[in-house]
Amino acid sequence: MNILLVEDDIALAEALKQTLKHEGFVVNHLTHGQHAILAVRTGASDMVILDLGLPDMDGLEALKAIRKITSDLPVLLLTARASIEDKVSGLDLGADDYLAKPFEVSELLARLRVFERRLSTLKHADLKVGNVVLELESFRLSVDGHTVELSRREFMLLKALMENAGRVITRDSLESKLYSWGEEVASNTIEVYVHHLRKKLPKGFISTLRGVGYIVKLP
Ligand code: CA
Repeated sequence: MNILLVEDDIALAEALKQTLKHEGFVVNHLTHGQHAILAVRTGASDMVILDLGLPDMDGLEALKAIRKITSDLPVLLLTARASIEDKVSGLDLGADDYLAKPFEVSELLARLRVFERRLSTLKHADLKVGNVVLELESFRLSVDGHTVELSRREFMLLKALMENAGRVITRDSLESKLYSWGEEVASNTIEVYVHHLRKKLPKGFISTLRGVGYIVKLP
């Protein structure tokens, strides 16, 4: 795993580099947002750790630029700002996770392992989380080996949640998946579909993060 570490606090970056290398990660360290965007463009990184306070630009702006280049590169935000607004806007801009400074290195490693597990799940054609399998070719859901019928919208929502298992998906981001079909979406649409999906899934499969969105947790 090749990690791009974007952090202008040299002491912190050096410490992280040491630990991550010790854990078997390859680490490329940069201090500036513009350089990070260029590095992402080369496509050599498997995941990004991005500080929000950078010398040349706001980390959220860098994140926006990164998301224009690639949508599936996992990005973990490091933030000294702990307000809910920053968390939500970071997630809305496509961050996969965030960690508030100061943090325990063990916590950082745990988050990176979630990224790793997710990257390896993405390689399979069917989406599988525990005993729940979503067959992408046949649009079928199977729970404990039993086939369950899904409407097209239920399928699309569950696909988005399972593709991103282990991370929070904001309601806006889920709605944008409906809007892409060019249809009007009522304000409670996502809740309604999640409600329908929950009846077809094991208890607790989709968790709600009030005011933020939903998450399918990895087993
Ligand atoms: Ca900083």
